[in-house]
Amino acid sequence: MNSQWETVIGLEIHTQLATKTKIFSGAVTAYGAEPNTQACAVDLAMPGVLPVLNQEVVSLAIKFGLSIDAEIAPYSVFARKNYFYPDLPKGYQISQMDDPIVGKGHIDIDIEGKSKRIGITRAHLEEDAGKSLHEDFQGLSGIDLNRAGTPLLEIVSEPEMSSAKEAVAYMRKIHELVRYLEISDGNMQEGSFRCDANVSVRPVGQKELGTRAELKNINSFKFVEKAINIEIERQIDVIEAGGKVVQETRLYDSVKNETRSMRSKEEANDYRYFPDPDLLPVEIDETLKAEIKANLPELPTAKKQRFQEIYGLDSETANNLTSSRQFADFYETIIKESGGDIKLCTNWVTGDLAGALNKSGLDISQSPIDAMRLAGLLKRIGDKTISGKIAKQVFEILWQGQATADEIIEKEGLKQITDTGAIEAIIDKIIADNTAQVEQYQSGKEKVFGFFVGQVMKQTQGKANPADVNKMLKKKLSV
Ligand code: ADP
Ligand code: MG
Repeated sequence: MNSQWETVIGLEIHTQLATKTKIFSGAVTAYGAEPNTQACAVDLAMPGVLPVLNQEVVSLAIKFGLSIDAEIAPYSVFARKNYFYPDLPKGYQISQMDDPIVGKGHIDIDIEGKSKRIGITRAHLEEDAGKSLHEDFQGLSGIDLNRAGTPLLEIVSEPEMSSAKEAVAYMRKIHELVRYLEISDGNMQEGSFRCDANVSVRPVGQKELGTRAELKNINSFKFVEKAINIEIERQIDVIEAGGKVVQETRLYDSVKNETRSMRSKEEANDYRYFPDPDLLPVEIDETLKAEIKANLPELPTAKKQRFQEIYGLDSETANNLTSSRQFADFYETIIKESGGDIKLCTNWVTGDLAGALNKSGLDISQSPIDAMRLAGLLKRIGDKTISGKIAKQVFEILWQGQATADEIIEKEGLKQITDTGAIEAIIDKIIADNTAQVEQYQSGKEKVFGFFVGQVMKQTQGKANPADVNKMLKKKLSV
């Protein structure tokens, strides 16, 4: 990228709060229902209905605020943000403006091995709008109001990121956090986690921020990175050609990999915000805050640190294992249940298991092998019932069905041969049958040793203990 220019990015992340019902009505929020089957009179904006705040969203927002070290507003206010759009039958969205529930906080991101603190300006509660459907209606649009009134927490960052990579790292960190806290499922395909990226450029050394464009509604990490990078290029091109960047809302087209102007940027006063007269201000007392604080789970950063300390993991492995709460729990269950060979557990979880999940496109929560069954396998490697190689075979069978490792080992006859007499007899026969190779070995061709090991393993179907085999072969061949 051009070194004369530096980039400034601020993100607004919308995360859907995991409540059963909507923020101001009793309609359910479950994803995927037939259009307009989950919109009640309040969501449809029938005259005379009144919104009632769902208390759960308040608790979830507080949970978030506490975990980014933010001030929780003792008094916050819902405001009407007025605009017209077909998917917003009320003509306004209930949001928060002057008095958001969560004030200034921060989160640390890792960027090229270094930690960088990103300020969070605020986080406020609001309702989602409905959805316009264009595909099934030729020349017409359909309106689905199932989403209308879905609770959102909008998390607004300071303009403190200076590359697309940092923006993605920040977005991932927030995503990880909301999932740890279990305040959102973070499902990006279903629209539960999406972001608007504000991007500007300025000459290196200039203090004042450049004019920004806002890239709307991006719902994948990959697209955020691509959209920001392409937008940075565009803005530099505009300025270098003598033009000016205009403040506007732009749309990212992932097919053409370009951003396009949607509309000129509206200012807050265009929305004629005012406190919603139908809703009381929210007052939060210390007791509720203290109660939520006492029940916060261990957060990703703390967990990562603990993993490094007590399991002796490097930073990358610890990051990897704490990438989700479920994954971390899985790992710790295995350590506890398998007999505690940490290195063995780490290798199997980050290697074989993660690889197999990845290959099948599965999440840890969908793993065909649960923690107890994998622990059962690692136990048998630990006590040398089976070799590491045979364990891979057992793993395959565990993956396919419901049997335990012990059942599989028993049924398939995979137990390691511990009877050294039996192995000795096999070795003797191999030596007798392969006199040419014996001579080669004894005349100094040490490579032939591998041939003997291979023969023993073949004849024992891999069930001989490799260390024992090596020892015995060395002894017999050196006579
Ligand atoms: P609005 O409410 O109009 O979208 P805000 O001032 O609340 O505007 O800012 C929204 C987001 O834009 C914030 O995340 C902020 O950090 C970011 N932002 C503001 N100015 C700039 C800028 N010049 N360049 C990049 N990001 C910016
Ligand atoms: Mg905005």
